[in-house]
Amino acid sequence: MDESRRREISAMAHAAGGTRLEAMEEGPQRHRSWDEELRLRGYRVTPARQLVLEAVARLNHATPEEIAACVQQTAKGVNISTIYRTLELLDSLGLVAHTHLNHGAPTYHLATEAAHVHLVCQDCGKIDQASPDAIAPLTKALDERHGFEINVSHLTVFGRCNDCRSKDSA
Ligand SMILES: [Zn+2]
Ligand SMILES: [Zn+2]
Ligand SMILES: [Zn+2]
Repeated sequence: MDESRRREISAMAHAAGGTRLEAMEEGPQRHRSWDEELRLRGYRVTPARQLVLEAVARLNHATPEEIAACVQQTAKGVNISTIYRTLELLDSLGLVAHTHLNHGAPTYHLATEAAHVHLVCQDCGKIDQASPDAIAPLTKALDERHGFEINVSHLTVFGRCNDCRSKDSA
């Protein structure tokens, strides 16, 4: 048995015991490449999966429709339901993450990006990103009072951006 096969089996054994445990023991999953991650979990590396990941990386904060349009420039045959299924798979494997920037479809970004809170302006629609430090008091209070852990990258805060606010006062 070669070394890579041995690692794969040990990783699968860990995964069976819970991915949380695996992440704690082996460090963040981002140290593995996406294709390694897929293979380790028993999924094939397909052109559609590769194209979807590339589109998410290129577009950053894109809906499944936007990702489909991008993928279809290269591969016309990849339909929207494949895009949805692929995004759900990549999300469940921790390769992409999603948030909800409007009432429609979720919006995806790469899981390898630094954790960030999404700030959406309700007037101009601009999306900004804030560091998790910005909500540290909220994170702490919810942990202490509710035992609740915030999934930072899933979080979107709606409000009005600096530009729109300064237009008002001008
Ligand atoms: Zn969600
Ligand atoms: Zn994001
Ligand atoms: Zn604005």
